[in-house]
Amino acid sequence: MPTSQSILITGAGSGIGRGVALYLARAGYRIIATDLSLEAAQTTIAEIVELGGQGSAYAMDVTSETATQAVFDSESEIHGIINNAGIQHIDPIEDFPKDKWEALIKILLVGPAIATGIAVKHMRKKGYGRIINIGSIHGLVASPYKSAYISAKHGLLGLSKTVALETADTDITINTVCPAYVKTPLVEKQISDQARTRGLTEDQVVNEVMLKPMPKKAFISFEELGGTCEYLLSPAAKNMTGQTLVLDGGWTCT
Ligand code: NAD
Repeated sequence: MPTSQSILITGAGSGIGRGVALYLARAGYRIIATDLSLEAAQTTIAEIVELGGQGSAYAMDVTSETATQAVFDSESEIHGIINNAGIQHIDPIEDFPKDKWEALIKILLVGPAIATGIAVKHMRKKGYGRIINIGSIHGLVASPYKSAYISAKHGLLGLSKTVALETADTDITINTVCPAYVKTPLVEKQISDQARTRGLTEDQVVNEVMLKPMPKKAFISFEELGGTCEYLLSPAAKNMTGQTLVLDGGWTCT
């Protein structure tokens, strides 16, 4: 479907953000790629331009209201945002550094709240907007040693439901996509970290920890995530708001 809509994606320089950016660019969306690393965001846009798509790149730390506002001020119209930027840290609660705990909550929960607040203000002017959070299976279930990440991802669902109610008077929707594991640099790092924390080999972490609770035993692909975001941006999802779309290979059925 050809579209002239502009979609801002946070953390678009790597992994899911980059994968979804390329998918949506192929579907005709103009991508506003933002990342902590300007160079990474620019690389994503260069790939999009090579595909025949369009976009712009910005350095944007999601924890900075000033940096987030500056991106909105630089763009004439933003039709949708995808709150995706994230980090992970794995440690048992008794050893979990409190500055890491705070950093994860800031990036994974306060960041989306900042961008959502600015986006809602911007979108209300046109009476239209689409907000998508990249949540996680860990917004619904827990696994050991990820207390900060899991707390933030559970919180994202509360943010989404609350903002859905606050924007119900206009054509703005907010939803959260919750994938199980996706093979990205963030997960590659977790494989080695979990091998260390649990005293396992990396193969054991993949097969006996990560994919074990998932009946379908497969990593979620960028295409599945891009297609889900495309659906949420489409008119067919006009009345879907405050919802959680779970791509977990049956994990939460067990
Ligand atoms: P990734 O490490 O490949 O990419 C994360 C990106 O976020 C990087 O480009 C990084 O620079 C950026 N980033 C980090 N801190 C930032 C900040 N303060 N401001 C702006 N950008 C920042 O990770 P990924 O696996 O693609 O994860 C993306 C999102 O998907 C995260 O929210 C993660 O929780 C979620 N998720 C990932 C998986 C998975 O298995 N990979 C599963 C479920 C959910």
